[in-house]
Amino acid sequence: ARKYVVKQHFVGAPKRDDYEIVESDLPPIQNGEILVKTEWVSVDPYIRAYTSRFPVPFDQFSFQVGLVEESKDPRYPVGTRVMSHKGWCDYSIINANVANSPFDMLYKLPDFKGLSSSLGVGALGMPGATAYFGFLEICQPKPGETVVVTGAAGAVGSLVGQIAKIKGCRVIGFAGSDDKVNWLEKDLGFDKAFNYKTVDVQKVLKDAAPKGIDCYFDNVGGEISSIIISQMNDFGRVSVCGSISSYNDDLTNLPKATILQVAIVMKQLKVEGFLVSRWRDRWPEAFADISKWIKSGNLKTREHITEGFENIFDAFLGMLNGDNTGKAVVKV
Ligand code: NDP
Repeated sequence: ARKYVVKQHFVGAPKRDDYEIVESDLPPIQNGEILVKTEWVSVDPYIRAYTSRFPVPFDQFSFQVGLVEESKDPRYPVGTRVMSHKGWCDYSIINANVANSPFDMLYKLPDFKGLSSSLGVGALGMPGATAYFGFLEICQPKPGETVVVTGAAGAVGSLVGQIAKIKGCRVIGFAGSDDKVNWLEKDLGFDKAFNYKTVDVQKVLKDAAPKGIDCYFDNVGGEISSIIISQMNDFGRVSVCGSISSYNDDLTNLPKATILQVAIVMKQLKVEGFLVSRWRDRWPEAFADISKWIKSGNLKTREHITEGFENIFDAFLGMLNGDNTGKAVVKV
């Protein structure tokens, strides 16, 4: 079996040399264990953000979908499709009895009935739950309100914008290329989308959100978030999901963002960060609604698929650099 081992902590952008691919023979499985053949591996921003927290060397974690190939746990017979957090490996041995923390989870993937099982690490997995609960629970959107989403063409952002449309909101998205902007407006039904690399954010928001902004779903942090928050309406809600614009920065040397306290006080904003693990017990609620919306044609999913175990690192780096439209996944 092969796996990616993090051998040194990232400095700035991750480098291929920070990883070693280790090959070994797996031991025979014991009672209570299953042998899983990886089918889909996820590459996500939190991998960049969390890796410095663990002592090296360690096996690269991530969500993944695989098929049970051998089983000594009657609850997971051969042929069962499972979602786990076993990461960038082509085979893994899992003991369901110990895989119950958010960082070491295992569950049976339901039959997606014609949809790709890769959605188990996307719209019908962790990013889907993030978009659903992070937006609906924290922003509490009402029909007719104006919602702004950054990172809008990515895995989470593209779902947030579409859920906001389903809830009757006006939706404005920011993403990093003209192609992404076209996709958001023409295919996903965003009311307006902009390439944050080429527009004056302050100016375009004045035109696109003449009634001000009620909800902001923040995937990126930094200066653009300060500009958006400064244009919010009284009692606006900000869901702070991520801050990818600073993940490669040294935490002791963070870029300066404009001070926002005045806007937060004067407009009585609610600003709340979250981890999607908060709603772990309720993830199936999100998946039920999202799969219903996919089937009814109200919500579209798109994947940026990289093929091959040896290309997982490139897919990860590409995602951090914005190569993906929709969810970045690797077919192993
Ligand atoms: P995406 O699919 O959105 O991929 C990352 C995207 O970030 C890239 O495609 C790129 O798009 C954008 N990006 C990269 N650098 C910058 C930058 N400097 N400024 C602005 N955008 C940038 O990833 P996810 O949907 O999986 O994650 C989106 C966010 O949600 C991340 O911040 C992530 O950490 C967070 N998250 C939080 C969770 C939680 O529990 N709180 C759970 C899951 C995700 P572009 O071309 O537009 O620049």
